[in-house]
Amino acid sequence: MARSYVREARRGLGRRSERIGPIIERLALEHSDAEIALRFRSDLELLVSVMLSAQTTDVNVNKVTPALFEKYRRPEDYLGVAIEELERDIYATGFFRQKAKAIRGTMRMLIEDFDGEVPTRLEDLVKLPGVARKTANVVAAELGHAQGIVVDTHVRRLSQRLALTRHDDPVKIERDLQRVVPRADWARFPHLLIWHGRRVCDARRPRCEDCVIEDLCPSSRLRS
Ligand code: SF4
Repeated sequence: MARSYVREARRGLGRRSERIGPIIERLALEHSDAEIALRFRSDLELLVSVMLSAQTTDVNVNKVTPALFEKYRRPEDYLGVAIEELERDIYATGFFRQKAKAIRGTMRMLIEDFDGEVPTRLEDLVKLPGVARKTANVVAAELGHAQGIVVDTHVRRLSQRLALTRHDDPVKIERDLQRVVPRADWARFPHLLIWHGRRVCDARRPRCEDCVIEDLCPSSRLRS
């Protein structure tokens, strides 16, 4: 189980529903460049990139995908080579055997059930082999059809520190966030927390003195 940050949120600073507006506003100003770091040119490339990003960094995925996407342009292309060849082509992203198997299973289903297109409904995306809820949420949001809120390690940590949730389980955290974050912000909200987490609210050494939402955060080190 990953470390929990729930206990860091000690001081009550008002209701979540009152703090969420200014939190989103200020983070949006501070991180106006916050967007998905993966590089892709189509729905299919987005889906493959997100699948490859499991257990590795987006930077790592971006090193592999330019050559990959030149070679594999349609779902059929991923099935037209031996699986060992696909494994070699995605080797640098790690867990290449599982990922190659999942990608091929997904391509087969796209062809058979979705006319070769990437579906936008969450319930369809999670049917694809190797596509869990988090991957499905990322893809749906990037396609402009956010139906949930992506919860990764940064979103989990910041939601706990900001006392937007008291849960550790990602599904329960997502449910809490869906109750408080306006639906129009479901797609960009995780990006704001991810970038704030990377730049300011580090897991070990949060830079509370440089944080634009310090006065809205019950975990601020400046008031302990
Ligand atoms: S940097 Fe500090 S004040 Fe800002 S969100 Fe993180 S813990 Fe809270």
